Amino acid sequence: MSLIVQKYGGTSVGDIKKIALVADKVIREKDNGNDIVVVVSAMSGETNRLISLAKEIDSNISGRELDALLSTGEQVTIALLTMLLNKKGHKAISLTGQQAGIITDDSFNKARITSINHKIIKEKLDDGNIVVIAGFQGVSEAGEITTLGRGGSDTSAVAISVVLDADECQIYTDVDGVYTTDPNIVKDAKKLDQVTSEEMLELSSQGSKILQPRSVEFAEKYNVNLRVASTFSNSSGTQIVKGKSIKEQPIISGITFNKDEAQLTVRGVPDLPGIATKILGPIADANIDIDMIVQNVGEDGLANFTFTVNRNDYKNAKKLLSDSAKNLNANKIEGNNNIVKVSMVGVGMRTHAGVASKMFKILADENINISMISTSEIKISIVISEGDLEKALQALHSAFDLHT
Ligand code: ADP
Ligand code: ASP
Ligand code: MG
Repeated sequence: MSLIVQKYGGTSVGDIKKIALVADKVIREKDNGNDIVVVVSAMSGETNRLISLAKEIDSNISGRELDALLSTGEQVTIALLTMLLNKKGHKAISLTGQQAGIITDDSFNKARITSINHKIIKEKLDDGNIVVIAGFQGVSEAGEITTLGRGGSDTSAVAISVVLDADECQIYTDVDGVYTTDPNIVKDAKKLDQVTSEEMLELSSQGSKILQPRSVEFAEKYNVNLRVASTFSNSSGTQIVKGKSIKEQPIISGITFNKDEAQLTVRGVPDLPGIATKILGPIADANIDIDMIVQNVGEDGLANFTFTVNRNDYKNAKKLLSDSAKNLNANKIEGNNNIVKVSMVGVGMRTHAGVASKMFKILADENINISMISTSEIKISIVISEGDLEKALQALHSAFDLHT
């Protein structure tokens, strides 16, 4: 007998019919003689709906009450799935994050799981239940409800797999697995049978929604057998394999994008020591994460400084930048929240030169302007206009032969 943790994302539980399909899938695994823990997300669109309600009250809303609101999404799904499992004649019980003993730190809206007191989950399993747990939520030591950041149910599922020493953690979603790029945009994207956790982590961190980056980190660190597959088919999906063990390493494994960023530029600041911290300090102090940064030295010893922030932070960051630009006698500031970051990821880049120049040539041939570039050992990221996204993905995907 094995212990399996299954996670079903929002699109897999979008209505009662779909939740009934999920129930059947869970029951099949149970009937194979396994113990099953199911982690579910909120019904598709629900978390967004709740966020927009809160934003009608305050466009900068964050903190405790937001988590009190957002955690309701997952609570609906655990109850509905459990009712269906019961109706189909199976013993099942729903648990909120708090009931399941998921303890987090106290950073509302982006909490980290610090421990899981798995006594209750174990007891309920031993009692013969299918245990259905709300993803994305936990409770702080002080007893406050917290949530784990967008896509956090993936991390809930992997963390629960760690403490229960599950044989496998299966992440069920609306696509057949991890593809060379988003299959909803590039129709001939290819499903990968395996991807290394190192590459998966880059793909996730650079915006591929399929797994929350922290879930990949957890799985790698604690040796969880992690697989992504479709709720709606029986294909075996994509195995996330540890480290760098794949024998044949493609140069590029995948292309991903992130539409959640916005770009800010301050022009004509004095090119002196300490300038970066004067510009970025106030933004970091306001708890705004900065992603890419580029500094160009122009004429007359003046520099231009460009960086990206999350789109949700764009307005605040622009305001803070205007204030510091005045103090620095900068010429002007510019902002653009219609950009997208496109990243190519592959462990083979370590041993193959020329990927970047090929990428730039392909985009130039398509007449796509690149406004920022950053590279790491196994990744190249560029910023382009959001309107060029689909064209860029198609061209790169085909020129790098990812469909074959
Ligand atoms: P869930 O609701 O199941 O958590 P998500 O929407 O978070 O699902 O993630 C699945 C989506 O990720 C897919 O529908 C697809 O559009 C998107 N996606 C982005 N990049 C990839 C990729 N490389 N492979 C597969 N799906 C991807
Ligand atoms: N419901 C949350 C979200 O939409 C968590 C998740 O789906 O993983 O981000
Ligand atoms: Mg998700």
